[in-house]
Amino acid sequence: MIVVMRADSTAQDLAGVVALLDRQGLSAHVSQGEAHTIVGVVGSPIDHGELSPALEALSGVDRTVKVSKSYKLASRQFQPADTVIDVRGVKIGGPEVVVIAGPCSAESEEQCLRIGDAVASAGARLFRAGAYKPRTSPYAFRGHGEAGLEMLARVRETIGLPIVTEVLTPAHVALVASYADVFQIGARNMQNYLLLEEVGRTEVPVLLKRGPSATIEEWLLAAEYVMAQGNRKVILCERGIRTYETATRNTFDVNAVAYAKRETHLPVIADPSHGTGVRSLVSPVGLSAIAAGADGLIVEVHHDPDKSWSDAAQALGLETFGELMAKGEAVARAVGRDWAGVPV
Ligand code: PEP
Ligand code: MN
Repeated sequence: MIVVMRADSTAQDLAGVVALLDRQGLSAHVSQGEAHTIVGVVGSPIDHGELSPALEALSGVDRTVKVSKSYKLASRQFQPADTVIDVRGVKIGGPEVVVIAGPCSAESEEQCLRIGDAVASAGARLFRAGAYKPRTSPYAFRGHGEAGLEMLARVRETIGLPIVTEVLTPAHVALVASYADVFQIGARNMQNYLLLEEVGRTEVPVLLKRGPSATIEEWLLAAEYVMAQGNRKVILCERGIRTYETATRNTFDVNAVAYAKRETHLPVIADPSHGTGVRSLVSPVGLSAIAAGADGLIVEVHHDPDKSWSDAAQALGLETFGELMAKGEAVARAVGRDWAGVPV
């Protein structure tokens, strides 16, 4: 439920609402809008219709509204203004379109530093690479584990880019948190509810990939799992879904980008690398996502793409990545966004 304050309500009126909720063991999430202040009611169970008469009798309250979506904390009804997530000074979900780039897997320190340096010069603001890799085959390279996290820490230390990396299991959350600036929850784990709750108990921002066969609503409910534990810093990531189409690895769902931007206040980014699985399609599809309102891209880049230890077919070379960045800036500006691609 949300409480909509009257336009002429005072700070004292707001304090009265917060106090009433407090007495009920609930807490208030206050969003200061241009016209109205909205108070989201937080606590379990999440809709508290029986409190409506008492709240509506308070001074300064215009009305109470039941949040009609199945996801509550993530919905735009609950919080009309965009959530902007600050990752070591890089703002995701604000006016600027932000690019996260790096190899699929952290292969060696030299590889990470070389790619990190190149993508930073092209304007990427965060570095991605997996140390724990979810692989379809148990015989494929599954990441260097903690040694891979050390490689990422070297990139942050040497080049200054914050780190995005996948956490596969609740058992690794504390360890990965000691290295990562942003947790990645991979597509295969989108409905691993115990993992979602574990990262929800931290304060580390969470990049939540959409599951390969998840509906948009299931994806947003996965975000709700994280947020319900207290961590409101969720970045939604559309990475393609499985359809009847076999020409590409996945089918990138640009609808989902526009839809999630409309229905939630969370930042929404696009992964055209996994979304297509095809090197030559990564840039055009990434640009389409920016045009549709994405707050950023996450892109797999490698200095020797064909030799990537994982996802070689979709890795961009350094030059192609530079071209994508130039076009990305043009598209971002064409749709009224700023571009965060200032080389570091
Ligand atoms: C990845 O980012 O390398 C990855 C494994 O992504 P996804 O979970 O979207 O398949
Ligand atoms: Mn990958």
